[in-house]
Amino acid sequence: MLNSELGTLGTPHLNLPDYHIHTALCGHAEGEASDYGSAAKKKGIPEICFTDHAPNPDGYDPAHRMRLEQFSLYRDAVANIQDDGGTRVLFGIEADYYEGCEQFLKPWLESQRFDFVLGSVHFIDGWGFDNPEERHIWDSVNISATWRKYFKSIMRLVDTRLFDAVGHMDIPKKFGHRPPDRDLKEMVQPVLDRLAEAGMGMELNTSGLRKPVGEIYPSPVILSLARERDIPICFGSDAHSPGEVGADFDLALKLAHEAGYRDYFRIRQRKMERLPLPEV
Ligand code: ZN
Ligand code: FE
Ligand code: FE
Ligand code: ZN
Repeated sequence: MLNSELGTLGTPHLNLPDYHIHTALCGHAEGEASDYGSAAKKKGIPEICFTDHAPNPDGYDPAHRMRLEQFSLYRDAVANIQDDGGTRVLFGIEADYYEGCEQFLKPWLESQRFDFVLGSVHFIDGWGFDNPEERHIWDSVNISATWRKYFKSIMRLVDTRLFDAVGHMDIPKKFGHRPPDRDLKEMVQPVLDRLAEAGMGMELNTSGLRKPVGEIYPSPVILSLARERDIPICFGSDAHSPGEVGADFDLALKLAHEAGYRDYFRIRQRKMERLPLPEV
């Protein structure tokens, strides 16, 4: 479908797909898939991809995800709105990388017909570092050492080749804890090299704007380094309520342009295609 068919000319950021959307099934979001679909349609967003938290029957972080038995509810809820017209709806998943995740994830991801698999890291040595309830632990750790461990996990995530893109690349900054730029650059560059080699994408995630850090993931520094390596980008709101769909995409589009990006990717059945970015 052409963007103009949706009548969104004049609001270019709304011509961008939103590739990071949760549903109530994960237990900490509100709204059914259909509510997110309606919200996207109302805003004239051409395409969305659901990426709810993957089930992990191996016992990993059961509090923040659907159970495996609920997965068919998720799949059906998304399938049910795929022919609604207006916004195109893709079927994806946000899967966490953690040590040993491959045992379940590899065969399971292969057995599903996902359009998009977003890879994230939410734990360091069993600590949910982005969980507000575990935020106090930041007071007793070395910030740079913690970030180093985080990026080590991202490196392993990339090496599994299980994921299409990395979600919220610098999420350890969520509460404002960050290493000096020089350290950050030194630790992130090998990760970005590896991402580029793997042909993986990176997400511009606007949810950081709604968190204490008040900044899109990733930061301009990281995004520019990604641009130097021609790492493809997509856009995600990480919506946990329907009103958040497409949130702050005007700022994300501006950030992408400022970093020198002129294109972004769309994906279908895990095959990426790069398209020109709308003008700011
Ligand atoms: Zn979530
Ligand atoms: Fe996440
Ligand atoms: Fe998410
Ligand atoms: Zn997320």
